[in-house]
Amino acid sequence: MINSTRGRPSILVVDDTPGNIDVLREALKKDYTIRPALDGVTALKIAAADPKPDLILLDIMMPEMDGYEVMRRLQADASVREIPVIFVTAASDIESELKGFELGAVDFITKPFSHAVIRARVSTHLELHDARKKLEKQNQELKAKSDLLEKIANLDSLTGISNRRHFDEVLEVEWSRALRNNAPLSIIVADIDYFKGFNDHYGHIEGDKCLCLVAQCLSSSLQRPTDMVARYGGEEFVAILSGTDIKGAELLAENWRAEVERLHILHAASAVAGHVTISVGYATLVPTRSMMPYYLVGVADEMLYQSKGMGRNQICGREIPPFF
Ligand SMILES: [Mg+2]
Repeated sequence: MINSTRGRPSILVVDDTPGNIDVLREALKKDYTIRPALDGVTALKIAAADPKPDLILLDIMMPEMDGYEVMRRLQADASVREIPVIFVTAASDIESELKGFELGAVDFITKPFSHAVIRARVSTHLELHDARKKLEKQNQELKAKSDLLEKIANLDSLTGISNRRHFDEVLEVEWSRALRNNAPLSIIVADIDYFKGFNDHYGHIEGDKCLCLVAQCLSSSLQRPTDMVARYGGEEFVAILSGTDIKGAELLAENWRAEVERLHILHAASAVAGHVTISVGYATLVPTRSMMPYYLVGVADEMLYQSKGMGRNQICGREIPPFF
C-alpha cells in the first residue's frame, strides 16, 4: 500500500537501455509516475530538481558514468541523499551487491525479475521511507517538547529567571569546571532591603512586581553568557560567575546595587532610602577537592549579612584563600 498522504509517487528509472526502462515502466505505471533517464548525468539532474523523485531504480552498468558513481554523487548531495535507491542489474555476484549496499542502496534487484517482485519491493521501500520520515519528525517534536519542559522546570514561575533547582545544577557544573581548570569561581547573593515592610505597605501584588523588576535588573546586568542569576528564595537572588576573580565579583556586586537604586521603585517602609535597595554579599575562591560548593555560597551569605549589619544598601565581599 502506498502512503495516501503522498499522492502518486514518482520513480526515477535510470538505465542506458531504453528497453529495460520500458519493462520497468510496464511493471510500475499503474501506481507510479515514471521519470526515465538514459544516463547518469541526466539522472542526477532529475533527482536534484523539484519535485524530487520518491525512489530511484538505478542500473549499474552504464557507459561514461556507472550506477555506483551516480550513487556516490547522490550520497554526496544532502538534498537527495535520503531518496531510497534500488540497484537494478544483470550482475548477480555477491560482490557487486555488497558494493551497492555499502554505497547506501536500500535494495538490489537482479534481472530478469517478475513484475510482482519489483512492485512489492518498490512499495515496501516507499513505505519504509515514509515510516522513517514520520518517526524522525515525531522524534524532533518530542525533543522540542522535552527541551521546553526542561526549560520551564528550570525557571522561577514569578520572575522568569532561573530557580533554585537550576542554580544547584549549574553550581555543580561550574564548580567541577573551576576545579579542573584551577580557576576562580564567584558567588554573589543579594537581598531586597526591608521587603517585608514593602509587602505590608504596598500589598503582595506590588511586592511581586517589585521582585520581577529587581530580577530583570539583576539578570540584565550580567556580562558573560556563562554568568547566571537565580531567585534563591523569597526576596533573595544569587549569581554564579565562573572564571571570575574577586575584583570581577566586586564590580558586578556594586553594579547590581547601583542598578537597583536606579530603578527608583518607591519604598515608603524602608529605613535606608525612599526607594527599593538591595544588600549584597559576594565571595570568591579557587575550588579544591577538600571543599564543597555550598561552602562558597555560605561565605557569600555571611557577607550579605555583614552588609545588612552595616546598614544595608551596600556590598561586602571576601576572597577565600586556598587551603588543602
Ligand atoms: Mg546498463
